[in-house]
Amino acid sequence: MSDTGELKSIELPENITVRELSESLQTSPIEVIKTLMSNGVMANINQQVDFDTAAIVAAELGFDATPLIVEESLEDSAEIPLWRQWIARENPEKLSVRPPVIGILGHVDHGKTTLLDAIRQADVAGGEVGGITQHIGAYQVEHKNRQVSFIDTPGHAAFTAMRARGAQGADIVVLVVAADDGVMPQTREAISHAKAAQVPIIVALNKIDRPNAVPDQVKQQLAEVDLVPDEWDGDTLVVPISAKEKQGLDDLLEAVLLVADNNEILANPEGVTFGTVIEASHERGRGVMATFLVQNGTLKVGDSVVAGQTSGKIKAMFDFKGDKIKEAPPSTPVSVMGLADIPEAGEIFRVAKSTKFAREIVDKRKQLVADRAVVAGSALTLEELFARVQAGEVKELRLIIKADVQGSLEPIVSSLKEMDVEGIGVNILHADTGNISENDVMLASTSEAIIIGFNSKPDSAARRKADIEKVSIRSYDIIYRLTEDIDKALKGLLEPERRESTVGRANVLAVFGASRIGRAAGCRVVEGEIRRNARVRVIRGEEAIFEGEIASLKRHQEDVREVRDGFECGIGLKGFNDFEEGDVIECFTIEMVKII
Ligand code: GDP
Repeated sequence: MSDTGELKSIELPENITVRELSESLQTSPIEVIKTLMSNGVMANINQQVDFDTAAIVAAELGFDATPLIVEESLEDSAEIPLWRQWIARENPEKLSVRPPVIGILGHVDHGKTTLLDAIRQADVAGGEVGGITQHIGAYQVEHKNRQVSFIDTPGHAAFTAMRARGAQGADIVVLVVAADDGVMPQTREAISHAKAAQVPIIVALNKIDRPNAVPDQVKQQLAEVDLVPDEWDGDTLVVPISAKEKQGLDDLLEAVLLVADNNEILANPEGVTFGTVIEASHERGRGVMATFLVQNGTLKVGDSVVAGQTSGKIKAMFDFKGDKIKEAPPSTPVSVMGLADIPEAGEIFRVAKSTKFAREIVDKRKQLVADRAVVAGSALTLEELFARVQAGEVKELRLIIKADVQGSLEPIVSSLKEMDVEGIGVNILHADTGNISENDVMLASTSEAIIIGFNSKPDSAARRKADIEKVSIRSYDIIYRLTEDIDKALKGLLEPERRESTVGRANVLAVFGASRIGRAAGCRVVEGEIRRNARVRVIRGEEAIFEGEIASLKRHQEDVREVRDGFECGIGLKGFNDFEEGDVIECFTIEMVKII
């Protein structure tokens, strides 16, 4: 219940997932699921409930819900960042234009850092002489009296993991491509991230000062990855620059404003305040300092905030120059003091109505993380994905494909693209050669995709990330098997893989007469152990003649749970009595494995 006792008004859409509803109501999904259950509705975190149901939950949690009319349907919006979905739900009349937020992506050494420095310095030189800029992971510049915010994180250790989210926090991606090197693997990755987040791309064709620059060849490569330059009648602005020589920067900012104007970049400065955590660290004498990018509402000193797994009250706030400020409107990057702990980069922060309430949300979130094994996580296995496709929640299977060589990638991609089962198709978010990287896992996690490896394995960082993010990686070495599995997944026939591991073996030494539960075999365990609750099969000669469960496992007339190698025991099986001396009883476990 609301601690003020009054109902807070809230607008809710026609349909909303449990996860979104919990975010809107500033509570945990568990709370929402419990409230739904107490009203007789069973739903998991990813399931949608209709407005009427959501309104009942809202009322119980202290909100008065009214229906929100959204012109465009937001269904199938898993790839669109949450903050953008929230802004889309603001009352259109209250929205106003805000400065665009730019993320700079590109292959290593193509000049991201140099470009970010050049843009920042150009502005400082033209503005306040000697103005000191703090490195807070984001900054703002002024061009033609308009503000532009840049996310400035490439050199940062967290950047690899941030890249997927970096694209998500941005309104426009500037893709840096070196004119002497062209489209490279991380260029393609960046394009996939930006496309998945539906963020427009501007290409900064860098290093044109280099004698070996081949801009036309690079434009050709760009056209091949669906970024057709505007001068060739395409949609992509390609701006030649030299970050080192500070050439073309004005043109680039011009292009940014042009794309911004064509893409209605809006927010409600008076709405609920939320945004993205850019970076955070512990600073001696100041405690936790976090850089927030405000994306809606206005952040104020004194506000209580929740950011991922931490909360706090904003004690002080600084802009990127290090100047103290009291208020931060949409698109402003600010460094804030007052959080109890370091939030993770890429998390969403939001203002809560009280510090106490903020702490409660964090407690519930922590509990939710602990319960995550029970409540479905955000990432999906192929089977779960199919279940959602069937439920109409997802209209496509999203895949990321990594293959060892280009020669195998092409036939895989072309045969998958053709697949369509009753209107459900395959959407290939990213396809490239090489090992499965941490970035692939991040992209899969943020866009609810499955990773398919063809003679390509995850490296150890990717494997670790996949475990944490619960991203499914399936490996193949035969193209036919791969396409067959995807076809089955689309048709809903894919069964989880059954993986068997042998626990132990026992030889039948003697057969005892009938007892109340049937006949039993006197055995000696010759390998591993026999476990009472595992499955067994009886092997005679070369053949398995029975498979089933153990009815009784005894040592010296006593029921036991397991008998180890070297010991004798009596084994009775459910539904099998025909033991013969010399039979082997093999004990095994079966795991239904979904993740390879
Ligand atoms: P990042 O890895 O994408 O951040 O790339 P950096 O900004 O660190 O740049 C990599 C290298 O390319 C550095 O040695 C830069 O000095 C150089 N570089 C960046 N931009 C240009 C440019 O426009 N022209 C030339 N000639 N070199 C550049």
